[in-house]
Amino acid sequence: MALIKTEAIVLKQRDFSEADKIITLYSMKMGKISCIAKGIKRAKSKLRGTLLPFTHNSLVLFKGKSLYTVTGADIIESFVNLRKDFSLMAYTSYILELLDSLVPEEEASYQTFVLLVGTLHLLNVIDPRVAVKIFEIRFLRILGYRPQTDKCINCGGFGDKFWFSSGQGGVLCSSCRNLDSLAKRISTGSLKILELLDKMDWNRIDRVKPSKKNFQEMDHIMDDYLLYLLQKKLHSREFIKSVIENKL
Ligand SMILES: [Zn+2]
Repeated sequence: MALIKTEAIVLKQRDFSEADKIITLYSMKMGKISCIAKGIKRAKSKLRGTLLPFTHNSLVLFKGKSLYTVTGADIIESFVNLRKDFSLMAYTSYILELLDSLVPEEEASYQTFVLLVGTLHLLNVIDPRVAVKIFEIRFLRILGYRPQTDKCINCGGFGDKFWFSSGQGGVLCSSCRNLDSLAKRISTGSLKILELLDKMDWNRIDRVKPSKKNFQEMDHIMDDYLLYLLQKKLHSREFIKSVIENKL
């Protein structure tokens, strides 16, 4: 019997039968996978209380023909605060939904796993809106989808005015902005903040303090860009905008 040991973050779970659940995980060794947790809903199950959404677990899995089966689970970090606090829960749900929407099944990325675990820890200690922005830009970079934000994507020019074009995949300068009539104005200050959130050393990241305007502009372009990439709106993001940030 081929058993696999791996660490994983639980993205979501759903009922499968009276006693079983299907768990979607982002694992260190296999990337995103679906597993069956047999008997997890039974009172005496050794899995009971484990595999809740957001938790970081050390798992033992058995690979069947079509599905993995969880045979053992130990909680490394429960991230209980992220489930207790209403707005933190919303931000965490968004990070997990974004990840779930963009990664293919069974494609491991150690970098993504480390970023995910790091961001869940960060959500507890810094402004969650900053943690979300860090995750978005670094996650897109790992995937190879990061938009160009340091110079004009068409002519390579630097300037003091830029417009963000989702279709072009980056910013356009004032001479090139007519390439995309839907391009959105973004200040150089917000572009600099975005660069810092992407490149700054992890343990100094709390020094980056975006202003209200920076958040508005970064949200504006990221929402537009993610809609372009995903061709759909994410429920958790719309929920944050309407309920947590009252912006719809
Ligand atoms: Zn240009």
